[in-house]
Amino acid sequence: EDAENTALIIGAGHAAGECATAIREQGWAGRIVMVGEEPHLPYQRPPLSKAFLSGESTVEQLYLKPQATYDKARVEFIPNTRAQCIDRAAKRVTLSNGSEIGYTKLVLATGGRARRLALPDIEAIEKLQNFHYLRTLDHVSRIRSQFHAGSRLVIIGGGYIGLEVAAVAVKRGLQVTVLEALPRVLARVTAPELSAFYEKVHREAGVDIRTNAIVSGFELDASGDAVAAVRCADGTRVAADLVIVGVGLEPATELAQQAGLAVDNGIVVDEHTRTSDPDIFAVGDCTNHPNPSLGRRLRLESVPNALEQARTAAASLCGKERVYNTVPWFWSDQYDLKLKMVGLSQGYDEFVLRGSPETRSFSAFYLKDGVMLAADTVSRAPEFMLAKRFVAEKIPVRAADLADESIPLKSLLPQSN
Ligand code: FAD
Repeated sequence: EDAENTALIIGAGHAAGECATAIREQGWAGRIVMVGEEPHLPYQRPPLSKAFLSGESTVEQLYLKPQATYDKARVEFIPNTRAQCIDRAAKRVTLSNGSEIGYTKLVLATGGRARRLALPDIEAIEKLQNFHYLRTLDHVSRIRSQFHAGSRLVIIGGGYIGLEVAAVAVKRGLQVTVLEALPRVLARVTAPELSAFYEKVHREAGVDIRTNAIVSGFELDASGDAVAAVRCADGTRVAADLVIVGVGLEPATELAQQAGLAVDNGIVVDEHTRTSDPDIFAVGDCTNHPNPSLGRRLRLESVPNALEQARTAAASLCGKERVYNTVPWFWSDQYDLKLKMVGLSQGYDEFVLRGSPETRSFSAFYLKDGVMLAADTVSRAPEFMLAKRFVAEKIPVRAADLADESIPLKSLLPQSN
């Protein structure tokens, strides 16, 4: 590549931080510039609701890579700056500081922002000092300053983030209530059996989990600066010293949309992570991408996806077309429990448990037509590794064999020699 060429990355999250150095490793000789709206070097978000929230890890430990790594790869990083608009004809991007950067290849790694509660007058509530969303390091720094033993915390949303926060908070001595609108927690991602297990674990730890709890509004304290209680549609009122909302993610697609790129629940990309403009790529949470092995399009919110797409884009934009094709996987840490999930369970016709939830170590398998679609493993890392192979290679397996713990899982794989 010509030294005059510029690879410009918009966003400085997990996908961007990986992509920037990978582009250099793939042999790009020109400039590499990464522009991020946040003030921080690319950092890992998973600890925000786990070890960083609990105070067990520092800001430095969140960083994906130290500054020195970007220096060595000659990656120029522009923090605190938003990309405002893309001029595809001129191949230039306008930044919030008024400057413009030309590009040869552009990567959109804009991730997403916390989905806002859909309530009238939510703007006014969002300004209150004890009302929080949880997506960024700065959100969690604010939350941590209000995390006091004895405080009444109300978490809106019983998804991964809400439950991880509940686990940390109850351990810290807060009085925790989780309000979930659906009939069970983790409803979008797992089977009823797993939801019941996690509800029981949280209740035993002292968390007040309320399902079918639809938030309808907030009461302010006398000063008018803080939420005093959360109100539900059935008339219940839950007193609160702080409120944390975890109700999903809104992909950041506005730049792509304004530039006229195809957008449909995420920026539409092909198997090389290329958008509808051949010089523009998109990676991470903001993409709607094809998954060849699942035979469908997906928008995923996970670190393994962000990393793999970042590497795919880096190779493809350096002219070494690479195909993204991995089975989705995800993890969640709550208390001592390590949940790891692989595949997508939608459409399963058999559900099998291996081991007993009572022991806090078990696996659940989802089969369709005798093939494993997905697995949720709780504190069973070796079974997770094997399940990844069953799912990725679509290996036929019998439910009865999976349920029988006297049969090693490994022996159910085709024997290689
Ligand atoms: P992001 O990390 O969102 O980064 C995008 C960046 O782009 C942001 O910094 C944003 O400010 C910036 N940006 C957006 N628009 C512009 C613009 N126009 N100009 C400049 N900058 C812009 N995943 C797991 O796999 N396991 C977990 O256990 C897990 N736990 C999580 C816990 C929490 C609390 C959160 C919030 C997420 C968790 N995730 C987890 C999800 C994971 O963090 C995301 O999948 C990952 O961060 C996606 O990376 P990304 O680079 O695509 O997006």
